[in-house]
Amino acid sequence: MTASEFTIAGAHRYDRTNAARWTISHLLRNKRWLASFLLGTIAANLLGNAVPLLVGSAFNEILRPAPSRDVLLGITIEILAVVLARVVFDLTGRFSAEMLSKRFKRDARDELFSCLLGKSQTFHNRQRVGDLMARAANDVGQLSNMIVPGVDIIVDSFMTLITALVYIGFLKPELLLAPLLFTVAFLFALRDYSRKLGPVTAGMREQFGRVNAGLNEVIAGVEVVKATAQEASEESKFDGRVRRYRDLFVRNGEIQARYIPPLLLTVATVGAFLHGVLLISRGQLTIGGLVAYLGLMGALGFPAFISIFSFSLVQLGLASARRILALMAEEAELDENAGGYAGEVRGEVVFENVCFQYGDKSALKDVSFRIQPGQTVAIVGRTGAGKSTLTRLINRIYDASAGRVMVDGVDVRDWSLASLRQQVSTIEQDVFLFSRTVAENIGFGLGQRADPETIERAARDAQAHDFVMSFKDGYETVIGERGVTLSGGQRQRLAIARALLTNPRILILDDSTSAIDSATEDEIQKAIRRIQEGRTTFLITHRLSQIRWADRILYLEDGEIVDQGSHDELFRRCEAYRRIFSRYDVAEPVESGGR
Ligand code: ADP
Repeated sequence: MTASEFTIAGAHRYDRTNAARWTISHLLRNKRWLASFLLGTIAANLLGNAVPLLVGSAFNEILRPAPSRDVLLGITIEILAVVLARVVFDLTGRFSAEMLSKRFKRDARDELFSCLLGKSQTFHNRQRVGDLMARAANDVGQLSNMIVPGVDIIVDSFMTLITALVYIGFLKPELLLAPLLFTVAFLFALRDYSRKLGPVTAGMREQFGRVNAGLNEVIAGVEVVKATAQEASEESKFDGRVRRYRDLFVRNGEIQARYIPPLLLTVATVGAFLHGVLLISRGQLTIGGLVAYLGLMGALGFPAFISIFSFSLVQLGLASARRILALMAEEAELDENAGGYAGEVRGEVVFENVCFQYGDKSALKDVSFRIQPGQTVAIVGRTGAGKSTLTRLINRIYDASAGRVMVDGVDVRDWSLASLRQQVSTIEQDVFLFSRTVAENIGFGLGQRADPETIERAARDAQAHDFVMSFKDGYETVIGERGVTLSGGQRQRLAIARALLTNPRILILDDSTSAIDSATEDEIQKAIRRIQEGRTTFLITHRLSQIRWADRILYLEDGEIVDQGSHDELFRRCEAYRRIFSRYDVAEPVESGGR
């Protein structure tokens, strides 16, 4: 089992060794449907293939010098009864197959979703959203097509093949010669077909993922494409990807065109006919026997003709299953540590010789500091200095590569991840809001538990209540897509309200890029001051006004803490700090007056 940041207690475990085993373990989860599918299919075929035998015996009766009407009527009634019973079993089989297929799809979707939620941030940074969506939506859809009609038809057609062979054997063992030769040739041809088809179908799924990922990126970044007038170049790139996808379909078509079982069956039927006639001329077979025999040979047409389609569906399904499994199997770097330390955070944060790398790119080097509960820390430094990275180690979005990060004297790796993260809130530069109502966005951290009064109180504290009430639907206003669009300042205040609601003990505020007019800024300052009370706060900011109230300032350069102390101390002794200041806060002249 790979590490996971989130697991559902008691969730069903599937065999993820390979695509086929994984599929089977999903099917076995619904044993009753699987059993009724198999039994229904077998019974339907046993009955269906009995019809040619009955027709054969009717022929023998008719060809007798004085055919008995009663016998013929009896056979007719038998045929009718067999056909009706077959319909019932067929219905059971098809219905069960449909249930199996839809349950497989539902369970696989659930499994994949909770698995994705359990992956670390590092994992998600690596993914292309479009490809991930293709796997979650389209590949999961292929799984259900693999079962119905794919596996359903394969089982059904092979049951037809087997029962036909058994009946022919009962009719006269010698007659098995032509159909057995056909079966051997058919199985070889199928193996060859599947082998050739495999890489092409896998390629089709991969290429579909690429097409989707490209589409997603261009649509998400359409502003950049338009601003740089790159439509034509993006169009030709997209065209290239779609053409490669089309080429794979053509290749698939070529392989299907070379599918030979129908030809093999024609040859076998001719052979069977000659063999039957020979036996009749020797008096070893009746005319009715030949009719039954040819009827059963005709039944072999079903597997011969349909396998071209069913095998390709199963190949596609397995290729999709492999892609889903590959996604689920990717190593997650963090573990939720469910049994780890869980307690109320006081808010002491200590970094001891912490280093961190993104891949092999170093982002933090030998960072050490100690923050007392309730203190406000301002992190200052140029873009790319490692400010955001430093804060991400506190709630274990990433783990330190060396050294350790401690909260209340406990290494964050020894904390229960859920307990730690519930008590650390981050307000990012780009506030992410879901396309849901304002109330749901504010109450997000509480899940189902947030009531309207609590939400409103948080919004008031975050100075968001007034603008929310200016919308027609107030707290029920839907944000984004078809709802309202919000300004940067409004988004930030909603994020502050969201953070307030969970009552975090440690707060991380990434405020470095917001360009906001001064009236809004005033509101936000008020909100921030309100939220800071009694919490350990990390502030990433350039605003001198905010830095001045900080108890401590960490000045970062290229991932290293160059100096730390109060604003006055740093301003006095650190040349680089003075320089960064005069550049960032030109509008607000720096005075060394302290708070
Ligand atoms: P700051 O917040 O000071 O602007 P960051 O902590 O965002 O700086 O980034 C520090 C360094 O790490 C930068 O050089 C940046 O390019 C790099 N970096 C940030 N995020 C990632 C990431 N997800 N993958 C790889 N490198 C990253």
